[in-house]
Amino acid sequence: MKKIAILGSTGSIGTQTLEIVRTNKDIRVTALAAGRNIDLLEKQIREFEPKIAAVWSQESAAELKVRVRDMQVEVMSGMEGLLAAASEQEAEILVTAIVGMIGIQPTIEAIRAGKDIALANKETLVTAGHIIMPLAKERHVSILPVDSEHSAIFQSLQGGQENALHKILLTASGGPFRGKKRHELENIQVEDALKHPNWEMGRKITIDSSTMVNKGLEVIEAKWLFGVNMEQIQVVVQPQSIIHSMVEYVDGAVIAQLGTPDMKLPIQYALYYPERRYLPGDRLDFSALTQITFEKPDMETFFGLKLAIQAGREGGSLPTVFNAANEKAVALFLERKIRYLQIPEIIQACMENHKNIKNPNVEEILKTEQETYEFIRCRMSHF
Ligand code: NDP
Repeated sequence: MKKIAILGSTGSIGTQTLEIVRTNKDIRVTALAAGRNIDLLEKQIREFEPKIAAVWSQESAAELKVRVRDMQVEVMSGMEGLLAAASEQEAEILVTAIVGMIGIQPTIEAIRAGKDIALANKETLVTAGHIIMPLAKERHVSILPVDSEHSAIFQSLQGGQENALHKILLTASGGPFRGKKRHELENIQVEDALKHPNWEMGRKITIDSSTMVNKGLEVIEAKWLFGVNMEQIQVVVQPQSIIHSMVEYVDGAVIAQLGTPDMKLPIQYALYYPERRYLPGDRLDFSALTQITFEKPDMETFFGLKLAIQAGREGGSLPTVFNAANEKAVALFLERKIRYLQIPEIIQACMENHKNIKNPNVEEILKTEQETYEFIRCRMSHF
């Protein structure tokens, strides 16, 4: 019996992880953590019977406690709850399906407790990859990618010689505004940006995909996951989202992973690695498939991607500034407090204002996050 804990169980990745648990008889959930959706969390507790359930606010936890008083579950709240869920004694794997850099501390806690990590929460690796990857190595813990591109790279690396990897070809759909120029994006509304052509995802990552900031985060994530430098990662726009990513070896051979867009494949692969299991769903139909096309990313229109590459190259605390500024700017855009094009503008202003710290520790990362939010708050009237 495989035992797992899930942070972010009520979200897009979290619920799809639970679908996999539902269809496999040899996997159990020992801890669940969510933000605010206690209606769904209550249903999940009743169905999956975890030992620990965590919600973010104390009030929600108090309400949930009353609702599930007939169940044998410990209900917790805040960071304490996240840390307890992340390190639940019996779990072997932690699925980090929480959104944002709030995932840093629980991920570190889980690694210290010897849990393998099925990592969806890319923001954690972007900001603290220099702490997490060496710690995982030291504790003999595997970091298994859930992000579809990184899973594709991971799958393409199976059987290959580690030191023969030359280049990572990270594919991108280009998002809903592919082909548009910057002036055409001036009046983009929240509803427009929330329509992704190929993938159904949470709100934050859907906005990130539309700005291509998501691809920027993924470039930095790939750097840490696969131990390459930024120059070895090339973003390739592949609008049909059929090739999920590729690797090029030193002899020029390119190995790719293809499939229909379904996050359950990378989630299941991470949970059962190295085993492959049957997964119901659509298959690629090569007799109906008419074309797979490629484009260069437009880094002038989607300059958030360019900023991410700069942050990834310079390293230190700059990726934290990039990520925190984006998290705040996306939240402000979703609240309709800023315009769409202000998202990359805010990121750029924050990065320009920051004095980079080399090799920041967790406290410095969290302080940088807060300083970035504070800078945005003070400068709001200028944006
Ligand atoms: P969603 O917005 O759908 O879900 C986020 C989850 O995090 C929800 O369960 C939410 O709880 C929970 N959460 C938010 N804040 C807190 C908090 N303070 N404490 C505890 N739980 C919290 O996001 P996605 O599933 O789309 O994305 C999750 C992560 O996976 C992101 O890092 C994203 O970049 C990455 N990812 C997602 C993909 C996708 O297809 N969706 C693909 C690849 C990567 P609640 O809803 O109850 O508030």
